[in-house]
Amino acid sequence: MTDSALGFGTLPLAPQTLANLTQLGYTQMTPIQAASLPVALLGKDLIAQAKTGSGKTAAFTLALLANLNARRFAVQAMVLCPTRELADQVTTEIRRLARAEENVKVVTLCGGVALRGQTASLEHGAHIVVGTPGRIMDHLERGNLELSALNTLVLDEADRMLDMGFFEDIVTVARQCPVTRQTLLFSATYPEGIAKLSAQFMKAPQQITVQAQH
Ligand code: ADP
Ligand code: MG
Repeated sequence: MTDSALGFGTLPLAPQTLANLTQLGYTQMTPIQAASLPVALLGKDLIAQAKTGSGKTAAFTLALLANLNARRFAVQAMVLCPTRELADQVTTEIRRLARAEENVKVVTLCGGVALRGQTASLEHGAHIVVGTPGRIMDHLERGNLELSALNTLVLDEADRMLDMGFFEDIVTVARQCPVTRQTLLFSATYPEGIAKLSAQFMKAPQQITVQAQH
């Protein structure tokens, strides 16, 4: 296999994004990135499964950034995560990968933190929200979160969100997103519930699995 075959340069990404990846030391795509990004960048719905530590965050982040217009100050992408710790990690990785674009604003919405600060951040405007399903529902019910410009919905660690009993919350949140959006589901494992969940609101998702190397 040649180096270029797994380089990010084979993808239709903005030049500043590619330059930033090089600066971050991301020279080669990981297997799940190489398998999922060409499909995700076509705008298709995707169910991607690969073990922990395989680079799933960058896979969905590069897809949602490709859909993002930073000059439009509205929430265009939302990432649902099982816990506050994971939401914080995802926010950090999105900021790293987005730093070459002009002023992409990411707001984290998780429980265990006062609503007031989150509401103020949303009022100031955000391009991307990352959070747990319960708190995102809370903001939607209060009318704090406007999703009419949303074009990418990501479910990260979907298996863990199901373990934590978030099935109904996720369905409720997904149904408040525009039907024209792209939905990307990432998971380390593929329990039965994933197919049931995706059937509720995904459009002919392509399924990609990268098996662990033994
Ligand atoms: P997962 O979500 O699959 O558990 P992460 O997205 O957290 O994995 O990625 C694991 C680590 O790999 C992170 O530290 C991330 O910065 C790094 N990483 C991701 N993609 C690449 C890449 N193409 N080249 C080098 N490092 C990468
Ligand atoms: Mg992850």
